[in-house]
Amino acid sequence: MRIAVDLHIHSCLSPCADNDMTPWNIVGMAKVKGLDAVAICDHNSVGNLRAALKAGAEYGVCVVPGMEVTSREDIHLLCYFPTLAQALQMQARVEDSQPFIQNKAALFGEQILVDEDDNRVGQTERLLLTACELTLTEIAALAQSLGGVMVPAHINKGANSLLPILGFMPEEPSLPTVEIYGMQPHSALGRLCITSSDAHQLCDILEQGYELLVEEVTPQGIIQALKLGQAQSQ
Ligand SMILES: [Zn+2]
Ligand SMILES: [Zn+2]
Repeated sequence: MRIAVDLHIHSCLSPCADNDMTPWNIVGMAKVKGLDAVAICDHNSVGNLRAALKAGAEYGVCVVPGMEVTSREDIHLLCYFPTLAQALQMQARVEDSQPFIQNKAALFGEQILVDEDDNRVGQTERLLLTACELTLTEIAALAQSLGGVMVPAHINKGANSLLPILGFMPEEPSLPTVEIYGMQPHSALGRLCITSSDAHQLCDILEQGYELLVEEVTPQGIIQALKLGQAQSQ
């Protein structure tokens, strides 16, 4: 079946996102817009996913546990997991390989953590925007070993993006799916190209429009489609 998705949304945990991007607000907005599934992908953290999953269960929107990891090469890589437990394992590996730099909220923005009912409980001290020491290849392997999949984010954007940084599409790791910024999805590059909002404010979350072909509307079903890549659209 074809489902309307937005697989790249930042919550208030990301310093660059609006403070009203709480998980319940995001999933509620997705419901209003008629999306079937969303992924919250904060920078190098999954701290607000528990709330997002609870909101998803309440509103009937599939929430895929996700994270936008910054690789050693300074490339943004979306990682999707079947469950919160696997996403937490990935977060632990990323944190271990990230230098601790204290966030300066006045400069970079607040990194707001909420409990599962959307109540603010504190802030993450570690500056989440920092790159980790894991390479593109290592992050792809880690995501896969945890039952997930890695999708390079906004590959055609200027900064923190695969194409401008590497200058080419690598043969390894195999990248069945990539995210294209600001363009209609197409099958260039011989891969599945997905479109997401990379929303940092509520109004930017996608309307119904970009559709993914899945066998089931679950995190596992969506990950499977991303792993299949272009083969899934035929
Ligand atoms: Zn990014
Ligand atoms: Zn992003």
